[in-house]
Amino acid sequence: MKKKTASFTRRGFVRALARLTAFPTFGIPLFTFNGVATQALAKSVWPTQADWDSLRNEVKGRLIQVTSPLKACQINSGSSHCAEALEQMKNPFFLEGHPGATQSTGWLQGWKTEVSPYAVAAESPADIVAAVNFVRKHGIKLVIKGTGHDYLGRSNAPDSLLVWTHKMRKITVHEAFTPTGGNGPGVPAVTVEAGTRWLEAYDAVTNQHGRYVQGGGCTSVGVAGGFIQGGGFGSFSKKFGIAAASMLEAEVVTADGLVVLANEFQNKDLFWALKGGGGGTFGIVARLTLLTHELPENFGIVQGTIRASSDRDFQELLEAFADFYTQNLGNEHWGEQVKIKEDNSIDIALVFQGLSKIEAQKVWQSFLARLESRPQQYTVETDFTVMPASKMWDYGYMSNQYPHLVTLDKRKGQPSNQFWWTSNQGEVSRFQWSYQSRWLPLQLFKDTKRCAELFFRMSRHHSFSLHLNKGQAGATPTALERGQNTSINPAVFNATALIIANGRSDTEAYPDIEGHKPDLELGREVLRRINAAMKILRDATPGAGSYSNETDYHEPNWQEEFWGTNYPRLLAIKRKYDPQGLFQTHHSVGSEL
Ligand SMILES: Cc1cc2nc3c(=O)[nH]c(=O)nc-3n(C[C@H](O)[C@H](O)[C@H](O)COP(=O)(O)OP(=O)(O)OC[C@H]3O[C@@H](n4cnc5c(N)ncnc54)[C@H](O)[C@@H]3O)c2cc1C
Repeated sequence: MKKKTASFTRRGFVRALARLTAFPTFGIPLFTFNGVATQALAKSVWPTQADWDSLRNEVKGRLIQVTSPLKACQINSGSSHCAEALEQMKNPFFLEGHPGATQSTGWLQGWKTEVSPYAVAAESPADIVAAVNFVRKHGIKLVIKGTGHDYLGRSNAPDSLLVWTHKMRKITVHEAFTPTGGNGPGVPAVTVEAGTRWLEAYDAVTNQHGRYVQGGGCTSVGVAGGFIQGGGFGSFSKKFGIAAASMLEAEVVTADGLVVLANEFQNKDLFWALKGGGGGTFGIVARLTLLTHELPENFGIVQGTIRASSDRDFQELLEAFADFYTQNLGNEHWGEQVKIKEDNSIDIALVFQGLSKIEAQKVWQSFLARLESRPQQYTVETDFTVMPASKMWDYGYMSNQYPHLVTLDKRKGQPSNQFWWTSNQGEVSRFQWSYQSRWLPLQLFKDTKRCAELFFRMSRHHSFSLHLNKGQAGATPTALERGQNTSINPAVFNATALIIANGRSDTEAYPDIEGHKPDLELGREVLRRINAAMKILRDATPGAGSYSNETDYHEPNWQEEFWGTNYPRLLAIKRKYDPQGLFQTHHSVGSEL
């Protein structure tokens, strides 16, 4: 249908941390290594060529030297080789398949892509163990890249050894999986190796086995790395829950170079920490197993725009929308985004499951009819689409029915189903100016007048989006129950949505390449406006929290914002499994001490 009408205080928190972080040092003095109070690593001297050769032998040649994919541009940014390299940088799957590339190219006043001189292109847990032992022995920095999608640049670092898991992508679908140590009949599940991308998991679980696994929206995001270890939300997380909550078991290489299993029967504390405590922090996950779910019959999309004619009408629209949302949308059926914009309009890009098209239209009917009856004040455009859920990740079907939604990886030798959502193109090789998020407490949303006034004031500075599926208020009881066993900030359970303001950052911008550098002046202006918008929200929602995977590189009080009351327990687990601080990334558990 295409419808158109005329139109806890910070000091107290830190004290609690100090109490919980008093841990034994096993007689080895503490010192600071890359910002983390650690027990002494053996030494911190760059390895000799003989050391590297020895590692290369141990990993059977899988130690590789890495150069930037933009090397040709560093030499001559006007050359045809550079033009070719820049063209490749528009493809997220190319970026994942290159050990020197990342999806974002940097962050204003934060980080920029750095290339590790060496990488272990791991193909097995044994390769990972060798890399971990090498790093521990030589005291050098370790980084882990699955896909390199991390916004905060936590999968790259200079002068480091990279563990690159891209080649570990085996997938096994189980009719009945029982975690090791358990003795039940088992549950339907999927096991994926560390480098698997969501598209591959969906292909195996949905296209080939007719089931559903709760993953991410973006097809090129990794399954086992930062996404799931940071919590992970997909379009239908109000129905199926936080992705990490579906984790049944993980095989992990720990800082002491052991391969351990973590599940509800063994290494339970590690298991809990991996379900939301952040990637690159507690060990390297070599493979993990996730519960799968019954596939809904249909998935639907509602797209559209509602424009208000004046500031006053816009405020009224925001209040009506908040009311409509709390009555009708904050439940298991709905997910994805509504964008509130500076030009007095809201963009709707929502998905639904468990409803037919007619049922979904009925949900919106009276809200839209009220607006449409006032053509002087409002212009309404909406479009409802429904498709079989089994076809959602089937490129053949999608390219036939909705060619504008999908972009195929056309490189030779790539799988014929390897596509990304066209709407994610703007995120590829993007230099981030700002990306801030905050969970929106349901109570505030229910206070529709106050909420509308808040949204209106924010929108005068910068647009922002409500991600309905990234708040768990309104989720199913099963999703909530499983979610409570994760280590994500418990604030998510009182939140109806995650608000994200991420600006119009520079796409295809490379800080080191002449003629392609990000526009920093414009970036600073966007940052100023986002800061102003988000300050209004921060002031109104103290302690609301921020999602650690989609957050500000410069987030103040990040321990409390990312993990809330779970932080002290996470820190104690970090101390137990990684007392030397071998695994550390920007604003990860334990990186502040
Ligand atoms: C286009 C795009 C869309 C996104 N959509 C969503 C979404 O729908 N929902 C959502 O919740 N998030 C989403 N995200 C955010 C995403 O969850 C984070 O970027 C996440 O960090 C990606 O994890 P990765 O393993 O793919 O990336 P990487 O950059 O490879 O890794 C991220 C972090 O995990 C660590 N890590 C990687 N592999 C391992 C491993 N095997 N063991 C231990 N640590 C590891 C890295 O060291 C790093 O710290 C999106 C991001 C992008 C760029």
